[in-house]
Order: sequence, then structure tokens, then C-alpha cells
Amino acid sequence: MPRPIEAVIHPDALSHNLGRARALSGDARIWAVVKANAYGHGIENCFEAQRLVADGFACLDLAEAERLRGLGWRGPILLLEGVFEPRDLELCSRLHLWHVIHHEAQIEWLAAHKVLWPQRVFLKLNSGMNRLGFRPLAFRAAWQRLAALPQVEDVSLMTHFSDADALRFGRDGVAHQLAVFEAACADLPGERSLANSAATLRHAGRPLGGGLNVGADWVRAGVMGYGGVPDYPEHDATHWDLRPAMSLRSQVLAVQELHPGDSVGYGSAFVAEAPMRVGIVACGYADGYPRHAPTGTPVLVAGQRSRTLGRVSMDLLTVDLTGLPQAGVGTEVTLWGCSAVTGAVLGIDEVAHAADTIGYELMCALAARVPVRVDGR
Ligand SMILES: *Cc1c(COP(=O)(O)O)cnc(C)c1O
Repeated sequence: MPRPIEAVIHPDALSHNLGRARALSGDARIWAVVKANAYGHGIENCFEAQRLVADGFACLDLAEAERLRGLGWRGPILLLEGVFEPRDLELCSRLHLWHVIHHEAQIEWLAAHKVLWPQRVFLKLNSGMNRLGFRPLAFRAAWQRLAALPQVEDVSLMTHFSDADALRFGRDGVAHQLAVFEAACADLPGERSLANSAATLRHAGRPLGGGLNVGADWVRAGVMGYGGVPDYPEHDATHWDLRPAMSLRSQVLAVQELHPGDSVGYGSAFVAEAPMRVGIVACGYADGYPRHAPTGTPVLVAGQRSRTLGRVSMDLLTVDLTGLPQAGVGTEVTLWGCSAVTGAVLGIDEVAHAADTIGYELMCALAARVPVRVDGR
């Protein structure tokens, strides 16, 4: 028998969550963002469910784009950071990829490239995030250069929000960037894409000008598609009607009866104050569980809420079995997602929050050694 840990991918949740993006975004089309191997879920595991709703797929890597074409996707694929060197443009031609243009060199490469057919590009405005994109003063010149190139079929306009999940300096998180975008793009033709998950959930109805709202023409739905909540703990998955697309499940491997004063695990980081039963679970940081999760991090034991105790080690962690007399060796432990026993849900963001990180990081860090199974397959 293999080690009793697995990640289960839930196709119904993937479709449902992307459907939420669609419902919030009016007439906008939906990119399913599948970078980082579909946020750790596996592009191949998610594809059939996502294609039911998505109008396109957005990724970072040419290899990811090739996998999507290999799965039979003939619709739009967007490279979110564009090409990394000139010869990437050949693959863009061959695979019909749309790509982001965020710096001058990418324009020069395109101008020097022999295209099979003119390409569609998304010109990125740096509206205040200050990572990628042209500053407003350079944006128009970049647009004019691109629009004049025979290699270019169509120039779309995009930007990315830094604070769509919260306030910025105590004020509205997107207003300042929306104003910059509207001013820089006002009279430029082309489709527009601004919203990530947080903007879609929190701001999708906000007017953008030209009859559009923040959802604009294309929404880039990342973490929400996987049931992650970008503004946890202000809101949780129930609030946004999102469902976990991944459940990380393991089992109790051993039970220990602790006496008062007994400790558990490395560093004796947890000491029992009273007699108690604890379960040793086949999951550790080498599976992608956060090592920094402190005592008290929530888990589900046979679908009942409990907590971790002491330090997470490479292959094992400890859970409290107090009040769970039926739990023993072989009992299911859900680290995040939903219990197969009761259907109870433990949000990945709740676990991440306890470990001082975000759900995004936990999904993406699922370790290669954990077998992944698609529910119903
Ligand atoms: C990753 C990414 C997204 C998706 O972000 P989420 O917060 O996961 O929705 C959208 N746009 C760009 C440019 C990205 O890199």
C-alpha cells in the first residue's frame, strides 16, 4: 500500500468557481489562469472542468501553453509575461499564442521576427504596481509602435492591480490604478483586461468608462477558480460561494497516549497538561504542508474539526484526538479541502492564515511526492 496521503481534485468545484467569475463579470470573457501548473492542481487534472466555462487559458510558460494545445485546446491562450527571448515568438506563431508586451525589448524582438501570421498582443500598462508594464507616459508610444507593425494583428490593453484584495493606505484599493488606466487608454481601441480574482470578487461592477466595468472584456480568474479566497480573512469561501478544488487528505498512522508533562515531536514544542490522545498523521512539510503551522492550526479528523499539536516534521504531524474517541489508526485526516467522510470543508485559506501565509502558496507548494487523483475519475 502506498503511503496514505493524496490530493483529490474536484472538477465540479473548478467549473462552479469559474462560473462564479462569469456570473460576476457581465459580458466579460474568462481566462482560467493556469500558471504554476494550475496553482498546483495540475493542468491536465483541471482542463476538462475548466474548459466547460473558460473562454481562454492564461499561463506563464511556453511549456504550459504547449500542454494546453496538446490537450486539444484550440481557443485563446495568453502568455501573461509575454516571451522571454526572441525565439519564443516562433512558438507563439506555431501555437497561436497571444502574448503580453510589457517592455521595449519585446517590441524590438517582434519587429525583427518573421511571423507566420500576425499576432495578437496585450500591451501592459504599469498603472502603479511597478512590476511589469509601460509607464503611462511611454504607453502611447509603445502602442503606436506595436499597432504599426505588420507582425501585429491586434493590440489589447491590460493592467494588474496591486491592492484589489484590500484597501490601499486606508482607502479604496483600485481607484488610483483605475484612474491611471482610464487616462492612459481612454481613446485607444482594443479589448481590455484588468481584473484578477480579487478585483472580480470585490470590484467587478465598478464602471470603467466606455460602457465597460472593471471586468472589462477579459477577466483573469486565478485563485478563485481553485476555491482560494484572495481577501481572507475579511471574507471566506462561503461568503464568495467558492468551493475547494483540492482536498489534501491523509490518515492517522499511530496513536499516542500522553501523560501530563509528555511532549510531542521535535523541539518538544507541545507539552500535554493533562492526559490526552494524539494522532500521528502521514503528512509533513515534504508533502507541502507548511512547517510554520503552529499548534492549533485547524484540521479535520473524520470530518470533525481538531487542531495540530507541536512541530510539523518532514513526513509527520500530530493532531489532537481529544473528544474523538472513535478516531484511531486509519482514520481520515483532511489537511485542507473537504472530508470524504462527512463532506465538511476546511478552507485552505484558514490553514494558510494560521501558518502566516496565503492559500495561494499552499496550493502551489503541493509536493510532487503526493499522488493526485481527480474525483470521479
Ligand atoms: C496570476 C495572475 C493573475 C491571477 O491572479 P489571482 O489573484 O490568482 O486571481 C492575473 N493576472 C496576472 C497578470 C497574473 O500574473
